[in-house]
Amino acid sequence: MQINRIFKALGTVNSIFIPRCNDSIVILEAAKRVMEIDDRFSVYKEESDISMINRHAGERFVRVHDETLNIIKKSVEMSKLTDCTFDITMGPLVQLWGIGKKKDYIPDQKTLADTRCLVGYHDIMIDEANSSVMLAQRGQKIDLGAIAKGYAAEEVRRILKNRGIDNALINLGGNIIAMGQMNPYSQWTIGVQNPMKKTGSFFATIKLKDETAVTSGSNERYFIKDNKRYHHILDPRTGMPSQSELISVTLIGKCSTTLDALSTAVFILGMKESEKLLKRFEVEAVFIRNDGSVFLTKGLRNRFSFAEQFESSQIICAS
Ligand code: ADP
Ligand code: MG
Repeated sequence: MQINRIFKALGTVNSIFIPRCNDSIVILEAAKRVMEIDDRFSVYKEESDISMINRHAGERFVRVHDETLNIIKKSVEMSKLTDCTFDITMGPLVQLWGIGKKKDYIPDQKTLADTRCLVGYHDIMIDEANSSVMLAQRGQKIDLGAIAKGYAAEEVRRILKNRGIDNALINLGGNIIAMGQMNPYSQWTIGVQNPMKKTGSFFATIKLKDETAVTSGSNERYFIKDNKRYHHILDPRTGMPSQSELISVTLIGKCSTTLDALSTAVFILGMKESEKLLKRFEVEAVFIRNDGSVFLTKGLRNRFSFAEQFESSQIICAS
């Protein structure tokens, strides 16, 4: 028997697939855990740890659950390692732009500049002893949108492992963890989204074994105005949607939490600027540039295949 569960949480659609398993309790436990993370991390739930921190910004410390404290610490560490391109204090800018929510809104320069002043991970104050967090200035806001799904995926993996499950495919809104193998003869094969086409159209496949694959792209939430694409990954240095040459990057590596944060940063930095980061984290990557060209890192060469003709398809090994 196999088990497949699809459920909504973290503002997205998630699925957990376990081949050769008849313990349906495990999947309920995993889904419940993802909901619990959503309850703690969501900016849309008034009582979440994150909403409480945001509400009392510039005012007072807020006591939070250990896992909230840990993800904030991990996020700060990732900001330091990514030249501040990944920054969970982007909340005010994310809200201002409201990509995917407001209709084709572009803020004026003054509003943008004022809002940018509220962004900066240095303003996250942590009181370890009391498991408390405070943002230094009024109006500051944490948004875990670029790391929460990766973390939740790791938690699902942990729960499955604890229950003795070695083989599964976890997909939390595109943050994928392939545990073990699909069956004794075949590895897991995942599709890579064609950013030029609607969600679910794959242009290539990659084989994974005990690895995670995480994608950041400008093709999910965006609008086009005057021939310019305004998307949901914002560059903290400008306050604007990032403008590297990439339309999508998929990272392949070991830890989904790290890769979630990293994929956002790499997307902002672009191919050249992120070379060192990828080496440092020992991560493989598929880059798709806005001219339609596809670049792979060397480690993917033998396990990547095109599923269909890709416009001006070319594979170039980046490093
Ligand atoms: P997705 O959530 O589409 O998988 P990402 O993991 O790249 O993509 O996260 C993007 C989300 O993270 C945005 O919707 C926003 O909430 C938030 N965000 C946007 N820009 C940044 C940034 N530079 N650093 C951290 N979080 C960001
Ligand atoms: Mg991310």
